[in-house]
Amino acid sequence: MPECLFCGIVAGEVPATKVLEGDRTVAFRDVNPQAPTHVLVIPRDHYPDAAALAAVGGLLDEVVTQAHQVAVKEGIDDSGYRMVFNTGREGGQTVGHVHLHLLGGRPMTWPPG
Ligand code: 5GP
Ligand code: ZN
Repeated sequence: MPECLFCGIVAGEVPATKVLEGDRTVAFRDVNPQAPTHVLVIPRDHYPDAAALAAVGGLLDEVVTQAHQVAVKEGIDDSGYRMVFNTGREGGQTVGHVHLHLLGGRPMTWPPG
């Protein structure tokens, strides 16, 4: 197994259902979907969390833009969707390669669990 699961997906060593691929970002379906559309958008390079990603010129923008492109492709951009970065232990982050959750296709509730 590669050291980082999502680096393994980027390298094609771990199978994943990819939805969109950019020069610096990849979008793929979450293996345990919490909504009809549940896609993870990641940078190809390894950054641990959203703050580290935001420190890189323009890369956070590309992740958010690709998430929106997935929403358009899935037909949920009009109805709306949720973007989430779980961050750290109490934030519920379980994979240490930053990933944006794009969730949609059903009404979302607030507050989150
Ligand atoms: P986190 O809990 O870190 O915010 O999100 C990690 C996400 O990665 C979870 O929603 C989990 O279902 C997903 N995940 C974990 N392992 C795999 C995998 O091997 N393949 C894919 N496609 N998703 C995974
Ligand atoms: Zn990684």
